[in-house]
This record gives sequence, C-alpha cells and structure tokens, in this order.
Amino acid sequence: MVKKKLVLSFPPRLTQQPVTYDLIRKFDLQVNILRARVVPRERGRIVMELKGSAKDIKAGLEYLEEQGVQVDPMVQEMRHYSDKCVQCTACTAMCPTDALTIEPVSREIIFEPSHCIMCESCIAACSYGAMESQF
Ligand code: SF4
Ligand code: SF4
Repeated sequence: MVKKKLVLSFPPRLTQQPVTYDLIRKFDLQVNILRARVVPRERGRIVMELKGSAKDIKAGLEYLEEQGVQVDPMVQEMRHYSDKCVQCTACTAMCPTDALTIEPVSREIIFEPSHCIMCESCIAACSYGAMESQF
C-alpha cells in the first residue's frame, strides 16, 4: 500500500464533475480529502491523501491529468520562513502531526513538510508571519 499527499487544481469546467469519486470507483483508491476549495465556475483546489497500490495510484493520476487536473505534491504548499522565525516555539504546541518540532540541541524549529496536513494551526499561532500557506 502506497500513500501520497497531493494538491489537485481543477479548471472551472471540472469543478462540477465527480472526478474524485472516479478515483475510488475506477481505480480502487482510498481518498481522504484534507482540504477543499471548490467554487462552481472558478478554479478549484483539493488537498488529498491517496492510498492504494503503486499501479492503481499511477493509473489514477494519469486519469486525472488526462481530464485536465493539475497534480502537485502537497509538500510545496506550506512554507516555513526561517528568516522571519524568532524560535518562540508557539507553533509546535499547535501542530497535530509533529511537522513542526524543536531540534533538541540547537532549539531551532524544524519543519518537516511530509508530515504536514495543511491544517494551518501554525499560521494562527505565529505572530511573526513565519508560516505561510500557498493554498
Ligand atoms: S499546517 Fe498544521 S500540520 Fe502543517 S505544520 Fe502547520 S500546524 Fe503542522
Ligand atoms: S510560531 Fe512562528 S516565530 Fe514562533 S517558532 Fe513557530 S514559526 Fe517561528
């Protein structure tokens, strides 16, 4: 079983189509939608985790791209700006997945994008604008 966290960007003509349902029905994939911003007749974006065999995920992603959906890895979507960060650690207490942790020796903040689920709790916790979402 393979897991992938992805950001899907839909052109307006696809925002009303059951494209994510097709991933489940046609490709036997488990779909966990983490965030969605879909407005009819505007570009839509969905953050999702896909689970399935490598072969089925590859086929499902090819299907999405054939339909005109842009697929990007989720890790590009949340940014930690170390130049703005004052190492106050407020964000680490809010992060539900340990994507933000404190390095035990230097006490610096470490951001691990592959653990991030885009909940944006860190943005609310940070008074210095050091966490930003591209979503
Ligand atoms: S968006 Fe959520 S999961 Fe990601 S780093 Fe911030 S608090 Fe952690
Ligand atoms: S809350 Fe902001 S300033 Fe404080 S450690 Fe986290 S990212 Fe850095």
